[in-house]
Formats: sequence, C-alpha cells, structure tokens
Amino acid sequence: MTHDLGNSDATLDRDSRIGLCRLCLNPSANLRQSHYLPKGLYRLLRDEKSPNPNPVLLTERLAVSTSKQLTPYLLCGLCEKRLSDNGENWVLQHCPRRGSFTLATILDAVSPSEVSSDTRVYLAGGIPKIDTAALAYFAISIFWRGSIHAWNQVGAISGKLMQSASTSGRPSIGGAATPR
Ligand SMILES: [Zn+2]
Repeated sequence: MTHDLGNSDATLDRDSRIGLCRLCLNPSANLRQSHYLPKGLYRLLRDEKSPNPNPVLLTERLAVSTSKQLTPYLLCGLCEKRLSDNGENWVLQHCPRRGSFTLATILDAVSPSEVSSDTRVYLAGGIPKIDTAALAYFAISIFWRGSIHAWNQVGAISGKLMQSASTSGRPSIGGAATPR
C-alpha cells in the first residue's frame, strides 16, 4: 500500500481516484477510500468466537451480520492522516480492546469528582493521561463524516444536525490547516 499524501501529481494506486477532498477542498486530490468509523474499530467489533464474527449492520429494514463496509472516496491521504493523528489513534489506543480498556484503567486510578448510586463523574481535563482534545476531535470528526456522505445505503442524509455538522464541523477538524 502506498502512503502518498494526496495530491494530483502522486501516482494513483488501485485504491485511489482523483476528485474533491471534502475536508481540505483540494479539487484534484488523490482520494482514498474512507470509512465512517476508523478501520481499526471495525476490527475490534469482530467477535472471533462467534460463528459469524462480523459486526451487525442495522438499517431501517433489517439487521445483518456482515463484513461489508461502505468505503466511498471522500478524503485525500493527508486529511485521512489528520483525522488519525488528531483523534482516531488516541481513541483506538484507549477504547475497549480484547482484554483491556485503557481509558477505564486510567479512570480507576483517580478519584471521581461526583458519585451517585450508578454513576461516577470525572473532570477529564484535570487528568493528564486523558487527551481531551483528541476525544473532542474524534467526536466532532464522526459527526462531520456522517454529514458529508449518505452512509445508510439508501442515499439519504437525515436531519438538521447533520446539515449543521457539515458546515460547522469542517473548520473544527482542520479544513486546510496543517495537521498537528
Ligand atoms: Zn484533503
């Protein structure tokens, strides 16, 4: 797999095509196949002990276990890297994985600021091991991705929330800015 970062003078491989990058708005970007959720998360959602280890796809009409993923050409390699570097990588390293849940381990080691019978509240901004910027970036990027493509396979992007995320989310996750 090549790791060129997305411009038209790069050599296309069979997983690329030229078009408008929806994040940096380069009209002749070398687009990559994008996932709605990070590719690594799909792997974590598989249950290898099950006869059908694939995640369940829910639609308005059915629920089916499938390995099929929608991978439209939406973003250039540079913007895919931006999303990974600024949010996805941290979230994937700290989310529940087989046999570990790093974020929960971090929280277990500190005192919550509020406790009720079934809830503990933590001020994550005061816990150095928690990258709140990465968490917020990841959340905004998921809303934004949801707003720029009809991921539901029936060709519809629903709701004012998604319309709002499309216009307000792009500047929040970097647009043409340099990745950190
Ligand atoms: Zn781009």
